[in-house]
Amino acid sequence: MYIVMVATECAPVAANGGLADVVFGLSRELEIRGNAVEIILPKYDVLRYDHIWGLTLAYGDLWVPWYGGAIKCAVWFGFVHGRKCYFIEPYSQDNFFNRGTLYGCPDDAIRFAFFSKAALEFMLKANKRPDVIHCHDWHTGLVPVLLFEMYKFCGMPNQRVCYTVHNFRHQGVAGQEVLWATGLGRPEYFMSPDRLADPANPTRVNFLKAGIVYSNFVTTVSDRYAWEVRHTDLGCGLGHTLYLHRNKFGGIRNGVDYDVWNPEIDRLIPHRYGIDTVQNKYLNKEALRDRLWLRKDFKPIVAYIGRLDAQKGAHLIRHALWYSLANGAQFICLGFAPDPAIGGEFLRLKQQLNDNPDCHLELRFDEALAHLIYAGADLIIVPSNFEPCGLVQMIALKYGTVPVVRAVGGLADTVFDRDYSDRPMEERNGYVFYQGDPPAIESALKRALGLWFHYPEEFRALMLNGMRCNYSWELPAQHYLNVYEYIRHK
Ligand code: ADP
Repeated sequence: MYIVMVATECAPVAANGGLADVVFGLSRELEIRGNAVEIILPKYDVLRYDHIWGLTLAYGDLWVPWYGGAIKCAVWFGFVHGRKCYFIEPYSQDNFFNRGTLYGCPDDAIRFAFFSKAALEFMLKANKRPDVIHCHDWHTGLVPVLLFEMYKFCGMPNQRVCYTVHNFRHQGVAGQEVLWATGLGRPEYFMSPDRLADPANPTRVNFLKAGIVYSNFVTTVSDRYAWEVRHTDLGCGLGHTLYLHRNKFGGIRNGVDYDVWNPEIDRLIPHRYGIDTVQNKYLNKEALRDRLWLRKDFKPIVAYIGRLDAQKGAHLIRHALWYSLANGAQFICLGFAPDPAIGGEFLRLKQQLNDNPDCHLELRFDEALAHLIYAGADLIIVPSNFEPCGLVQMIALKYGTVPVVRAVGGLADTVFDRDYSDRPMEERNGYVFYQGDPPAIESALKRALGLWFHYPEEFRALMLNGMRCNYSWELPAQHYLNVYEYIRHK
């Protein structure tokens, strides 16, 4: 099958979060299975050009209709660790993608509306006729609208669109000028409640809703999150739209790239290990303590890795820290706080605990340290308020680090409580709690620490259960292929 991904991120050239890993990891797995995959991206000034191989001009004279006129673009081609990527570079005074950042500009909606239009115009002019166009997140929500309302009638009648939503919180809302800019026009037609009108403000265009309404199939990144966005406030106003389109909506969990995240081959950890050599994990624990100046003692290490913000349950992370220290464990936190208020709180905590030999807080992004923590810690907490899929718990499982998670989104789909799950014992791989308050995480941590201290053999069995889980891209890629096949023949 011939698939074109239209996305605003792809690891590692343009990465801001999980979306980048999905676009890269899924494309690679699809190619391994014999499909032709191409990725269309904006040519940001902040691309990691050192990860692009053989950048050449692929299409020098692409005129993209925009308002009454057209904007000239160049399209570049290059390999990103084997993936075939096209980068769209517009020449206009708007400087759409030369902003020193991927997102966060006041005209983001217009920037990515232009990108969506340019991606289709490029496919049309360069004679690319993929079986499936796979779009991601609100930024590319207008692609299926443009395809089925315009491009379908001028040379692209057979293309189908699969649309993946990675987070319903970000929907992309713009004024009606975007209709005129893209050439769709006709606000009286498009601004109806069953098309593009934002549910909260019907005079504005909602990109995410547009993608949901117009695509042939819509996925989100885990089964549980798919349920949550339909039935709880996590749908952020789109619950009704999802209800109307329920027959073409489902969850496919993300995969983990086991070429990067695998303790058997990880070059960023000092001692490699696997299921049969799990005792080497303790050498990494020593190395981790050496690196962070932690006391060497008979204590479990509880860790947190991830953004420090409200979504990730910052208050529960703080609580887990104090609880761990009070109950004979060590605590490590590796996280960057985008919100200055939360960042300030954690900075104060770091200063307060500076001399504590059982605790370390590292408030920045450090990939190498993340690898060492996954390898050296005993337990990892993921107390998110909501979590579309979550990578941390799946990576931790592979490294034999037992996850303690809140039962939301992808966390609930991948971690099964040792004591209370209804799964067979050998499939249980961690600890789960439900409520978002301190006693809830305490109850789970207490059980985890109790097992570590009093039943070490059982704890090791739990670690091995986790290491045996297969959360690679194999199964999700097959699910996506099934979706592609389904929409191709519908
Ligand atoms: P998000 O909502 O941020 O996408 P995920 O759990 O899906 O959360 O993915 C987070 C990824 O980013 C994981 O691979 C994690 O190891 C990594 N990560 C997050 N924060 C840091 C940090 N401060 N340093 C290193 N790696 C980090």
